[in-house]
Amino acid sequence: MCAAATFLRDVFGFDSFRPGQEEIVDAVTRGENVLAIMPTGGGKSLCFQLPALVREGVTVVISPLIALMRDQVRALREVGVAAGALTSGNTEEETNEVWEALDHGRLKLLYIAPERLASGAALGMLRRIGVSLIAVDEAHCVSQWGHDFRPDYLRIGELRQALDVPLAAFTATADAETREEIVARLFDGQAPSTFLHGFDRPNIHLAFAAKDSPRRQILDFAAARKGQSGIVYCGTRAKTENLAKALRDAGHLALHYHGGMEAEDRRVTETRFQREDGLIVVATVAFGMGVDKPDIRWVAHADLPKSIESYYQEIGRSGRDGAPAETLTLFGPEDIRLRRSQIDEGLAPPERRSADHARLNALLGLAEALHCRRETLLGYFGETNVTCGRCDLCETPADVFDGTTAVRKALSAALRTGEW
Ligand code: ADP
Ligand code: MG
Ligand code: ZN
Repeated sequence: MCAAATFLRDVFGFDSFRPGQEEIVDAVTRGENVLAIMPTGGGKSLCFQLPALVREGVTVVISPLIALMRDQVRALREVGVAAGALTSGNTEEETNEVWEALDHGRLKLLYIAPERLASGAALGMLRRIGVSLIAVDEAHCVSQWGHDFRPDYLRIGELRQALDVPLAAFTATADAETREEIVARLFDGQAPSTFLHGFDRPNIHLAFAAKDSPRRQILDFAAARKGQSGIVYCGTRAKTENLAKALRDAGHLALHYHGGMEAEDRRVTETRFQREDGLIVVATVAFGMGVDKPDIRWVAHADLPKSIESYYQEIGRSGRDGAPAETLTLFGPEDIRLRRSQIDEGLAPPERRSADHARLNALLGLAEALHCRRETLLGYFGETNVTCGRCDLCETPADVFDGTTAVRKALSAALRTGEW
């Protein structure tokens, strides 16, 4: 058994690799520059943690969220891996501990927040400790026109050149432009070994419907799935409260969730959703990051999401356990008008805005698709040879949906005239 497979079993306690992991682990372990694109929940962390154990020296992990870094460090330590983090969330004691471990050459993984790279001291420190690999988690944060742009990520390319070590970048965002930007900024334009894996979530049923009476449509959808855990995404805070109430009135267990709530109330809702069966959370997009419930059986959008990436991410929260899950996305001309104006009235620079419009247009293309949604969705992420059978259009070809056709015509006309 090769070293990686041994560590997989003995350290992490997994019997086998997930689809795509082994090839990525091998390439990273060999010291190739790697760009790996894998959906959320696909198991990206392991793809740099395992090589870090196999390789000599320290692997530096750059990650955008302190909470995620701390979680990973805690999980690694629990299985006996020497890992530490340098972030602004550290106590002095924690920082001293990390330094001491580094000085004694004991650390295998050092997580650092991207802000740290802004100080010259970081480079000196990293030179001294014998870094053998840089791993960049959530690498799309380097994309200036993406929604998670982190300016400090722009320093990573220089860091790679200064340390002259291989770099492995990981993300779940796969559109071609973001990929190109990652290659340009992190790899100085030199194509890394690229792995694009498994965007299909075959257990998730995809469906869109023209919005006619959204409240009734969502209530019907929920009624057919009574007792199952689900999420309803809404475009506004007020709507989450109204719809949660309507669902409760219809006999469901439902709570609302949005960014205007007290932190404590939000936490209670998150915890209840995680622990209870059959709870519906009616939420804005504020509900998501950190939701890691495997048995969410359905996700409905009462309003059109803002982009194809958001759509994929939000429906992707259902069916993580691999059992069948169902989704429904409502859309109408007023959604598009709203999303367009949100982009135009935002403070983003013009280039970013046009990228946002393109991502919205890609979602409209999916909403208006005439054949297989899955093929259209995955095609956007660069996947071909898609087999489906689990979407509304595979089940019922578009031309029999009169309502959808009417909306589609209205949308297309509006797009052509440039009204939006
Ligand atoms: P990502 O970063 O791609 O969203 P994570 O690295 O957080 O995904 O992994 C998601 C979950 O999958 C974690 O709970 C992790 O322990 C689990 N996991 C990863 N690899 C495997 C594997 N080979 N076998 C079983 N579980 C795995
Ligand atoms: Mg991750
Ligand atoms: Zn299909």
